[in-house]
Amino acid sequence: MVENGGCKDGNSTLLNGKYDLGRLLGHGTFAKVYHARNLKNGKSVAMKVVGKEKVIKVGMMEQVKREISVMKMVKHPNIVELHEVMASKSKIYFAMELVRGGELFAKIAKGRLKEDVARLYFQQLISAIDFCHSRGVYHRDLKPENLLLDEGGNLKVTDFGLSAFSEHLKQDGLLHTTCGTPAYVAPEVIGKKGYDGAKADLWSCGVILYVLLAGFLPFQDDNLVAMYRKIYRGDFKCPPWFSSEARRLVTKLLDPNPSTRITIAKIMDSSWFKKSVPRSVRTKEEEEMEKEKQYDESYFEKTKLQPETLNA
Ligand code: ATP
Repeated sequence: MVENGGCKDGNSTLLNGKYDLGRLLGHGTFAKVYHARNLKNGKSVAMKVVGKEKVIKVGMMEQVKREISVMKMVKHPNIVELHEVMASKSKIYFAMELVRGGELFAKIAKGRLKEDVARLYFQQLISAIDFCHSRGVYHRDLKPENLLLDEGGNLKVTDFGLSAFSEHLKQDGLLHTTCGTPAYVAPEVIGKKGYDGAKADLWSCGVILYVLLAGFLPFQDDNLVAMYRKIYRGDFKCPPWFSSEARRLVTKLLDPNPSTRITIAKIMDSSWFKKSVPRSVRTKEEEEMEKEKQYDESYFEKTKLQPETLNA
């Protein structure tokens, strides 16, 4: 238990006498994520701060507990690592591996990726998802905003806030909660008749692969119902610059019928996926990440958080 969650000590904000809180890195619906430093070992972490009141109000406390259990379980090079969890009267703190390269989303916002670069990220995404599924964990909210990049150009899956365990399956062996982000959600999840979490995650991976290669979404419409109709029908077109192998894989992932949708084993065996990524692609990505590195130690000193911000 944190006795002095976010107290002021001199000029800085100390958390449990252990972490020095720095700048805000990002925020989601329920959480703010700060750069923090472990005073014992000097290592930087990402500190996710979740307000209990807000979470309880919308009945999401069980979900937060689930996020913690899942993150403790899934240790993989392409999944953000949870170091420890602390709590004060009003907040829950997740001390996580700091991923310094920002969201994959920001990269795509600058334009579509070359196939070799997209392949590198997609291989890492599938490796992480395969690991989760083998442990009975389904992410259920895969999208480029939840995929972070480290300085080495490695992809890290985060935000297991909507994840499910296989033990949540109903008697029919399916999950029944409709969740996710509309543009990335599988047709059978919208259909509300129950779905296989693994198949639904693979659909989202298909949307992500399409977005990486195209620079825009496969299913778009200002009207949500019209967009869902397109998703149901699997009504999308690959742009002419997709290679025929990429086109084949995207089409097999975005199969509206979950029982014929491609499996992870078959993805890994597909010719597009199996191609090795040239070293030059990795090096270039690493160099770019290094240039974009925003959170160096001197920056941390200049941007230390004031306690009133934390309580806001
Ligand atoms: P949502 O509303 O999508 O459920 P959330 O409230 O659970 O989000 P996160 O998505 O976990 O919050 O984090 C919010 C943002 O903080 C991320 O989009 C990212 O920009 C940043 N962030 C999260 N984790 C890390 C990390 N480990 N390292 C660096 N930045 C991070």
